[in-house]
Amino acid sequence: MILSCKEASHLVSEGLDRRLGLAERVALRLHLAICDGCSHFRKQMLFLRKAMRRLAESD
Ligand SMILES: [Zn+2]
Repeated sequence: MILSCKEASHLVSEGLDRRLGLAERVALRLHLAICDGCSHFRKQMLFLRKAMRRLAESD
């Protein structure tokens, strides 16, 4: 199963809010292994989420 970048980025943001199923995680990992754009997007999302959480906690 090969995801498009659109599907992969959708799964990346979904994965921040809920636990992905096994098939979703495998498909996403495969896509991230071959796609620099989406790995970068995922890193940015993780960083942003961490930053947002830190901001919320400091208040
Ligand atoms: Zn991609």
